[in-house]
Amino acid sequence: MAVHIQPVKGTHDILPEEQGAWQRVRRVVEATLPLYGFREITTPMFEATELFERSVGVATDIVEKEMYTFADSKGRRISLRPEGTAGVVRSVVSNGRLRAHPLDKLYYFGPMFRRERPQKGRFRQFHQFGVEVIGEASPTLDVEVIALLMRLLAAVGAGALELQVNSVGCPRCRPAYRDLLVAELEERMAQLCEDCQRRVTTNPMRVLDCKVPTCGEATAGVPLLIDHLCGECTAHLDQVKVGLAALDIPFRLNPRLVRGLDYYTRTAFEVVAAGLGAQATVGAGGRYDGLVEELGGPPTPAVGFAVGLERLIELMEVEAEAPSVVVYLAALGAEARRRGLQIAEALRAAGLSCELDHGDRSLKAQLKRADRLGARKVVILGEQELAAGTAVVRDLARREQETIPLAELAATLAQAA
Ligand code: ATP
Ligand code: MG
Repeated sequence: MAVHIQPVKGTHDILPEEQGAWQRVRRVVEATLPLYGFREITTPMFEATELFERSVGVATDIVEKEMYTFADSKGRRISLRPEGTAGVVRSVVSNGRLRAHPLDKLYYFGPMFRRERPQKGRFRQFHQFGVEVIGEASPTLDVEVIALLMRLLAAVGAGALELQVNSVGCPRCRPAYRDLLVAELEERMAQLCEDCQRRVTTNPMRVLDCKVPTCGEATAGVPLLIDHLCGECTAHLDQVKVGLAALDIPFRLNPRLVRGLDYYTRTAFEVVAAGLGAQATVGAGGRYDGLVEELGGPPTPAVGFAVGLERLIELMEVEAEAPSVVVYLAALGAEARRRGLQIAEALRAAGLSCELDHGDRSLKAQLKRADRLGARKVVILGEQELAAGTAVVRDLARREQETIPLAELAATLAQAA
């Protein structure tokens, strides 16, 4: 008995008809990133679990409940990567890149894995494109990275977007604020959702951007980090604002913006799209000045972002394109099909896309298929033509045909194309 195996919940296929949008994103990225000096890096899809525990953070939703973790045959804990930054930083450190590349500008594409509740815009295997700049602390770099993100989103045609910016402080100013916030949240514990009640002890800042409406109401008026930043973090944020203004990049300061990953310091940002509904954040990022050192490298500031490609593609309007067939080879009979194989290869070697009929169909059926495929020319190979060493070339648009020697076929068609 045959069984219908369904795709695993939260995964999806990217069908040929959908690939055009994915390819367009790739093309735009590959045309834009070199303008900013970035190079591509590819890291493994799985890493030691400890990498994500130390970077993303043990008390984050991602590490606490969303990772796909398993033990390999030696009992080592391995996780499918839930995001890209940790692996890139691990790679930069483990390959000792910083000596030769004190400012390493990297980008990546790839699948990420999180066991979240599947819904529109939320998958268990999804894809991200991201950039990381490792080795510079200046706020003008944050601005340049945000400018790059906005340029890319505009270039792929993502529509109306809102950039939100905040500062999540640094190890100097965050702990004192955290204590202040926890004290305040403990007063309001009863009004918080179950997740947030837990977050008060594990990850209190995350309570501030909880999407449950009652949590928003319950936390109205709590102290915000933006009013408790140290002098350096305040100055950094001011410089980011000045830089964005200088580039005419509109933004909204959102003091409640908190990223769901522990490694962020100072600048944090999100780009929210008008056209996405509930899961509206298309891209997000920020500074992570402590992460390189946390992962065994020298103290090295860094900044980056990641874009959710499924959400980005949802925003783009791209027509599905079928592969364009220029030449259709209509072969009549077994011998003609054998010759057809050779001719088809010769045409492809000359750079022409071509489709050969492998079935034993009538000329009429083959012409119909050529028409459906949008072929510009049909080469008819019949017994008579083969015997004479020629083929009939029919121009479907012009409704003309001529007989051409097989030896000249590739050159003639390539010239006409
Ligand atoms: P969200 O608030 O939407 O859950 P996040 O804070 O978990 O996002 P990041 O880890 O910063 O997101 O990931 C960057 C981007 O990757 C998000 O803005 C989103 O576009 C995309 N993304 C994150 N999780 C998923 C998912 N499960 N399915 C599809 N895209 C996702
Ligand atoms: Mg999330």
